[in-house]
Amino acid sequence: MSEQVVPDPLEFARSQKSIEGDIALPRLEQLQDMLASTDGAVHFKVTGFVNESAAPGLRCEVQGTLKLLCQRCLGPMDYRLKIDSSLLLVKEDQALDIDDPETPDCIPIQRDLSVAALVEEEILLALPMAPHHADDVCSGRPAADTGKLHPFAALARLKTIK
Ligand SMILES: [Zn+2]
Repeated sequence: MSEQVVPDPLEFARSQKSIEGDIALPRLEQLQDMLASTDGAVHFKVTGFVNESAAPGLRCEVQGTLKLLCQRCLGPMDYRLKIDSSLLLVKEDQALDIDDPETPDCIPIQRDLSVAALVEEEILLALPMAPHHADDVCSGRPAADTGKLHPFAALARLKTIK
């Protein structure tokens, strides 16, 4: 698949166009460190809109399943992505109070906006900081098995049992 770009995001939003497709996981370079496997792809749909205040924006929907590394046991875990975010298009120099929770998500207007980069950014924002299995399926199981021992202490204990 060739690189998909939105040549003119403003025009794209105003005419409410949409673009849809799949991105193979190996192409999402910033995600590689977090993935246990790069098999598969994510499906995206980007739709232009103009909101009730006449501000143009892009709605970005992403779906798929990622194999992340569990930060507790370092085993693979399935993580279902379901992103649906609306981003307002703003001029690069437009001042935004990003500490204000009321501020909508924004992206700077740029020509030839890369869809893959946009999708990647949204995935990075959506992922948990330290993904891990549910307690009952994680082989790390610190709470249940070791009574909250420090990982190294737990390891030492395993060695003594051997
Ligand atoms: Zn785990």
